[in-house]
Amino acid sequence: MGRYDADVLIVGAGPAGATAARWLAEKGVAVLLLERQRLPRYKPCGGALTRRTLKLLTPLDVTPVVEAVVRTLTVEAPDGDRFTISLPEPLIATVMRDRFDAFLTEAATAAGARLREGEGGVRCEVGDEDVAVTTNRRTYRARFLVGADGANSVVAHQLGLRPHHRALSLVAELTPDAKANWDGSIHLLFPSQLGGYAWCFPKGTHLSAGIYTLRPMLPDWQRWLMGYLGRLRLGDGFQRHRLQGHPVPLAGKFAQFHRKTALVVGDAAGLADPFTGEGISWAIESAQMAATVLWECLNGDLDSLQPYTDAIRHRSLPELRAAMGFARFLFALPQVCCRWFLRHEAVLRNFAKLLSGEVTYRTLWRKVWRKGFVLLARPKG
Ligand SMILES: Cc1cc2nc3c(=O)[nH]c(=O)nc-3n(C[C@H](O)[C@H](O)[C@H](O)COP(=O)(O)OP(=O)(O)OC[C@H]3O[C@@H](n4cnc5c(N)ncnc54)[C@H](O)[C@@H]3O)c2cc1C
Repeated sequence: MGRYDADVLIVGAGPAGATAARWLAEKGVAVLLLERQRLPRYKPCGGALTRRTLKLLTPLDVTPVVEAVVRTLTVEAPDGDRFTISLPEPLIATVMRDRFDAFLTEAATAAGARLREGEGGVRCEVGDEDVAVTTNRRTYRARFLVGADGANSVVAHQLGLRPHHRALSLVAELTPDAKANWDGSIHLLFPSQLGGYAWCFPKGTHLSAGIYTLRPMLPDWQRWLMGYLGRLRLGDGFQRHRLQGHPVPLAGKFAQFHRKTALVVGDAAGLADPFTGEGISWAIESAQMAATVLWECLNGDLDSLQPYTDAIRHRSLPELRAAMGFARFLFALPQVCCRWFLRHEAVLRNFAKLLSGEVTYRTLWRKVWRKGFVLLARPKG
């Protein structure tokens, strides 16, 4: 390696950074992973892993850190009508992000990646040949840089790659008492005017509840979550002032995902599902795509990181755009969508499969175009 500290420097040890580190280290690449905090650390997140996420992680088995497996979905319309479906296969598995992220990072270090905790990247210089990252302790040099430092990415900001759009999400971890009376399902409510949805599902010892909205400027968004908890009779004793909103960055149509010898992955790249706010699977998938391109560059098979931006544009963005179309439709007309579509078992089953990542938005759109109006024509059953 000579004058370099590593072949690849990765800033941020969330799902994106830890996955890129593991994948590259398994190929024998010298990887240095810089994490600002000490692991395990709290990360505000629902911690819902879809089946798509679990599939992408294979062969890594995350069962040791899974808190609960959910098979039943209840969707509630604004007027209070509820529709429930149970699937034989799991819809989601839930995790606490402190344990999950530490688990992924341990897998990366076990594969040979080196980890520096408590070291935040504060400045990066990216050239045609190599990169330098200065942390609160020292400067590191490497052939390539991966910005995996999340929603407020310093790397994306400094490289001019910051996503332009933002959704907002907030999460509350409820007490074990609340879980005692919960039926083990995932509950989703689509309130009119929220421009998003509210959720509640079980973890190991407690419940996780939150809201997601495409309207980050929504006034008094804590009120929506408190209202939701009240509706579920779970609001007792919950401290409103403890609720904080967190950005979910969303990449635009013409976004760029690399610059010279650096690229961005996961939230730093704005790769999250605009309908659900789910970002872990996109973080993992983008990390795998990034690692593949970096590996080929290091081997001399590629001479630029452009194929990474191309891969994201061709493989991820069309699906995320289809998700945005879905979000705009359902969030604008939640009552109509629930009354005319989701009340049908077949539609609800497809919707559950969509949430679990088993079917894609594009597949579902095709079905909606073919069958949606047939459903509309049927009288309410
Ligand atoms: C309230 C909320 C609920 C959510 N619920 C879900 C859900 O249920 N399921 C789902 O799939 N997605 C969910 N998401 C989205 C999901 O949390 C993110 O998409 C996912 O964490 C992205 O992973 P990442 O590795 O890109 O970034 P992160 O998980 O944010 O990891 C970034 C890492 O970089 C570190 N870091 C930051 N800055 C620096 C720096 N300068 N130097 C070094 N290290 C740095 C951070 O400490 C962190 O460890 C939710 C988001 C929010 C806000």
